[in-house]
Amino acid sequence: MKIDILTLFPEVFDFLYSYSIVGRAISNKIINIKTSNIRDYSNNKHKKVDDYPFGGGKGMVMKPEPIAEAIKAHKNSDSKVIYLSPQGGLLTQEKAKTLSKETHIILLAGHYEGIDNRIIENYVDEEISIGDYVLTGGEIPVMVLIESVIRLIPGVLSSNESFEVESHYNGLLEYPQYTRPRVFENKSVPDILLSGDHSKIENWRKLKSFRTTLDKRPDLINSNTDLSNELEILDFLIKRIAKES
Ligand code: SAM
Repeated sequence: MKIDILTLFPEVFDFLYSYSIVGRAISNKIINIKTSNIRDYSNNKHKKVDDYPFGGGKGMVMKPEPIAEAIKAHKNSDSKVIYLSPQGGLLTQEKAKTLSKETHIILLAGHYEGIDNRIIENYVDEEISIGDYVLTGGEIPVMVLIESVIRLIPGVLSSNESFEVESHYNGLLEYPQYTRPRVFENKSVPDILLSGDHSKIENWRKLKSFRTTLDKRPDLINSNTDLSNELEILDFLIKRIAKES
């Protein structure tokens, strides 16, 4: 996958090239990330990229011409242009899965009060938000999107890492994880994890995954929820209801 980042602050992304899974995916040539400075596409002699908003109001707005030129310089028939914006649809694991199948994404990071709306109308295929809050710029949202998407591209995670069992992949949160020592501050690792019985461990994990979701994010449980170990789940729910009544 090719990723072009259009930003006023390209230096912010320098660390991506050496950072963990992203850095490894770049050096293994599974992804190719290029950062371009929108300012380089300004034909204004002072390289101006922002201006006052028509109609008045506080702050500055990013001018349309440099952004349009930057997009045109990178876009081809396979490209998807995404503007990171608090007004976009929420970035979810489902959205990350869909984006991981793209061949070329152009990620536009805004700044100031945002970008001239005609860029959204004429050039942007999709607006994506990383959450219902407002940040100063789109740089951190771009990084969040890249991280969430590239770890779903086949070959990016090594064979001992997996996204299929992680939170949100199948609509549930992940089961609790433990490592050594077996006892920590008087709390022991659940016996079943030391039993060596893989099928029992798998069932326990499914049940815990359901239970964790019910405890922490009950809003995620819906008619699409994987209830493949339904008898244990039913048993768990009956006990819980009995305890609460
Ligand atoms: N005035 C805009 C509004 O109220 O919708 C907010 C502009 S914000 C201060 C500046 C830039 O930060 C935006 O252009 C966008 O690229 C980025 N940004 C801020 N919050 C974001 C979020 N939750 N998700 C994605 N991008 C965000």
